[in-house]
Amino acid sequence: MRITALAGGIGGARFLRGLRHHVQRVTDDSVQRETDGTEITVIGNTGDDIWIHGLRVCPDLDTVMYTLGEGIDPERGWGRLDETFRAKEELTAYGVEPTWFGLGDRDIGTHLVRTTSLNAGYPLSRVTEALCERWQPGVHLVPMTDDRAETHVIVDDPDNPGTDIALHFQEWWIRYRASLPARRFVIVGIEEATPAPGVVDALRNADVIVFPPSNPIVSIGTILAVPGLADELRTAKAPVVGVSPIISGAPVRGMADACLRASGIETTAAAVAQHYGARSSGGLLDGWLVDTSDAASTPVIEEAGITARAVPLLMTDLDATAAMAAETLDLASRLRSTQ
Ligand code: GDP
Ligand code: CA
Repeated sequence: MRITALAGGIGGARFLRGLRHHVQRVTDDSVQRETDGTEITVIGNTGDDIWIHGLRVCPDLDTVMYTLGEGIDPERGWGRLDETFRAKEELTAYGVEPTWFGLGDRDIGTHLVRTTSLNAGYPLSRVTEALCERWQPGVHLVPMTDDRAETHVIVDDPDNPGTDIALHFQEWWIRYRASLPARRFVIVGIEEATPAPGVVDALRNADVIVFPPSNPIVSIGTILAVPGLADELRTAKAPVVGVSPIISGAPVRGMADACLRASGIETTAAAVAQHYGARSSGGLLDGWLVDTSDAASTPVIEEAGITARAVPLLMTDLDATAAMAAETLDLASRLRSTQ
C-alpha cells in the first residue's frame, strides 16, 4: 500500500511517527495483508524556510526528519535532543539580528550541510534525501517544491500604525508569537514554484492520501498553494482523509487559531473541514476525523459531503497516535470500497 501524507512540523511529524508505528506493527503481525510492503511518502511544507545568518533552515522538513529519526527534542517538539545554544549566544553578543530564532549548535550541523549542498547546486529534494540517509526516517520525505517560496504575513506595522508591513512567517510566529493580528498570508514566489520531483507521482500513485493534524493554513494550505497540487488532489484516485488539528474549538498546540482567523475561518474542527471542502463538490476531502469531544459536529461535516468520524485525537503517546493513524487508514479503506 502506498500512503502519501502532506505535513507541516510538529503536528505532522508526531502523527507520522504514529502512522509508521502502526504500519510496522501490522506488518510484523502480518494479520492485515493490506499494509504489506507499505510505503509512506511525505510531502513537506517548505513555506516556513528561511535564511538565518547565511544558513538555509527548513524548520518543518527538519522536524519531520528529526522526529522520525529519533533525534528530536520531544519536549520542545522542534530542534535536536541534548541541544546547546552556544553559537546563538555568540551571535547575540555581537548584536547581530535575528536574535529571536532558536539556532541550536547541533542543529547548525544540519543547516551547514544543507547550505553547502545547495550552494554546490543540488536541489533541496536531493539535499533532503541525503540528510535523511543519516536519520533513516522510514518514510520518503520530499519537499513540496525545490523553489524558494516563503510565507509572509501582512500585519499593521507595530512601529508605524496604519501602515501594512510584510513579516517573514517565522518572525511573526516566533518573535511576535502570532500576536500581531494577521491581515493575510502571502507566499512570495509560489506562482512560479513547481512541485519537487516525486510529488505529483506520490499523489497520483497513492492508495491513500492523508492530511495529518497540521496547520490548515500555513502548513497544509501552503503545500496546496504550489501550482497544480490542489488539482492533483481533486483528481487523485485515492481517497483523501484528514485529521483535525482543532479540538473543542482550539488548536492543541501553537497558534493555528490566529492563522484561521486571518483567513476568515472559525476555529472548529467542522469549519476546517468545510474550508477544505468535499471532493464530491470540487473540494479536497473525502473523510475527516474529529475528536470525540467534537462528535456533535459530525452531521454538519457530513452534510457538506465529507464522511466524518469522531475518535480520540490527542497524540498523548505513541500508542494513542498509532491508534489515530489506524482510524485514518480504516476510514480511507471504507471510502475506497464505496468509491
Ligand atoms: P508546525 O509546522 O510545527 O506548526 O506543525 P504542524 O502544522 O504540522 O502542526 C501544528 C498543529 O498540530 C497545531 O494546529 C496543533 O493543533 C496540532 N496538534 C498538535 N498536537 C496535536 C494533537 O495531539 N492532536 C491533534 N489533533 N492535533 C495536534
Ligand atoms: Ca511549520
